[in-house]
Amino acid sequence: MIVELIGKEAGLTFECMHIVPGRGDCSRIHPHFHYVDVLVDGEFDEKRRIVHLYNLKAVIMRICSAFEDKILIADYPESVQKITIEDMHYKIEINNKLYLIPKSDIFKIKSPSLNIEDLTVYFGNELALDLQNKEMFNSLKYFEVTLSEGHGQRGKLRMDLK
Ligand SMILES: [Zn+2]
Repeated sequence: MIVELIGKEAGLTFECMHIVPGRGDCSRIHPHFHYVDVLVDGEFDEKRRIVHLYNLKAVIMRICSAFEDKILIADYPESVQKITIEDMHYKIEINNKLYLIPKSDIFKIKSPSLNIEDLTVYFGNELALDLQNKEMFNSLKYFEVTLSEGHGQRGKLRMDLK
């Protein structure tokens, strides 16, 4: 049995900013409004549920909240992005520009890029950790996460939980 959460309707959203290597509009610091759809497949429990949606939403919201209103930084090679961590700031050299951003405004994710593909993999891995480690999600066989970055663009990933 499949159950789905539609991010736009369920409030599974977050807004964050990023700078990606390159030229043109995306080379400037700019925002994205993201929303997350999650599909789970599992077995019925004795209460005729495969998952308690309140709990599933809580897990997804926790992941979303880490991104909220932050500036995202990924592990781009030093040839395209040079980061120096100072006392209170990140000094970021990218696209021949220098940004000095307070640490509190940055969310540095372990990811080779901020492309929608890598962002979806990051989100999927975070979600898999939670779903695998909590007994309440034991009946689930796999999930699919769809991460939208607006402009009709999204990444989709299926991950097995067994
Ligand atoms: Zn962008």
